[in-house]
Amino acid sequence: MDLLDTLTAKGLRGETPTREEALAVLATTDDELLDVVAAAGRVRRRWFGRRVKLNYLVNLKSGLCPEDCSYCSQRLGSKAEILKYTWLKPGQAAEAAKAGVSGGAKRVCLVASGRGPTDRDIDRVTDTVAAIKEADPAVEVCACLGLLSDNQAERLKAAGVDAYNHNLNTSEGTYGDIATTHTYADRVDTVQKAHGAGLSACSGLIAGMGESDEDLVDVVFALRELGSDSVPVNFLIPFEGTPLAKEWNLSPQRCLRILAMVRFVNPDTEVRIAGGREVHLRSLQPLGLHIANSIFLGDYLTSEGQAGQADLDMIRDAGFEIEGMGEGTLPRHRADVAAHAGAAAAGGCGTAPAAGACGPGGGGCGPCGGHAHGDTAADAPGTDEEARTDLVRVRRRGAGTELAPNA
Ligand code: SF4
Repeated sequence: MDLLDTLTAKGLRGETPTREEALAVLATTDDELLDVVAAAGRVRRRWFGRRVKLNYLVNLKSGLCPEDCSYCSQRLGSKAEILKYTWLKPGQAAEAAKAGVSGGAKRVCLVASGRGPTDRDIDRVTDTVAAIKEADPAVEVCACLGLLSDNQAERLKAAGVDAYNHNLNTSEGTYGDIATTHTYADRVDTVQKAHGAGLSACSGLIAGMGESDEDLVDVVFALRELGSDSVPVNFLIPFEGTPLAKEWNLSPQRCLRILAMVRFVNPDTEVRIAGGREVHLRSLQPLGLHIANSIFLGDYLTSEGQAGQADLDMIRDAGFEIEGMGEGTLPRHRADVAAHAGAAAAGGCGTAPAAGACGPGGGGCGPCGGHAHGDTAADAPGTDEEARTDLVRVRRRGAGTELAPNA
């Protein structure tokens, strides 16, 4: 297939495809699906070998957000029966993080619901990072605290935070359809602030919210242009009690096409399968590992993932290996660019590319849902009239509870 030969050749050279080529990936048929996965897999192995990076979510503060992101179980007016609690103490958060690290995670993602942190919140996160790094200095810490004000990114960098997550989520053209309390430009601004302060930018998307193929391609190219070092790909978890609760529009095949498109556009960038992996890829999860080089271990912010041991078994059974603490994630040329940007920022001349939004995985600052073009209702596990409480399990263990975390 000419398209896949072209995309593979470009990806192996680290080149970005055209918009038309990216759209064509989304339009491939089920008969072509394994060829698409194989082509994206060659690109993935060129830059990331067979390594899988494990990330672990710690929800520092859950629910009661004043923002109205329609995909989010923690949003203003959400009726979702999620855990609701205020800031974990640093020791509690470090204990939760330790479970993930013991399970094989090299990055801990500290997430808090809300529009953005106060300066007091930055103090709390500073203390939490110190507690985590005291236990294991090699752990990467990513913060996800919402929209940043001036100098907050610099304070996080000084506290030892390695990365900042803020997802763009969807295209600029449709952003107003999923949230009204802030704008796409606000999100871009926060990622730029993080990047400008020398933090690695983590910014991704949510598929399944009613967006078109063009919207998906728009947001993925925007992430590429903004210089995101890691791109979490969320698949909407339609939470009961949110406006998108009945939006079941994704099939496993559609999810694989989306992941492949993201990989071709970001050949040498960390591509992470984020929230909705189990819910939407289901038995095809291992094929996703041939495209993405990073996943979350265990549970998400407000929903439960499969058992952490099942994640580890899946990786090994599929012939992949868990990326070690001492191994770099990005290929050297990308890591050098990121380090240079950080050094330039530290010197006061940061130019700040990058983009973002709030939340790397699942439930809270995470996935939403919608109408995926190219799929039929028969592909999806339910219809617009059905809720799938059997597939979406609210998190009842780990951070904010007395029960052991899933890691
Ligand atoms: S995504 Fe983040 S900002 Fe939006 S409602 Fe959820 S917690 Fe609040």
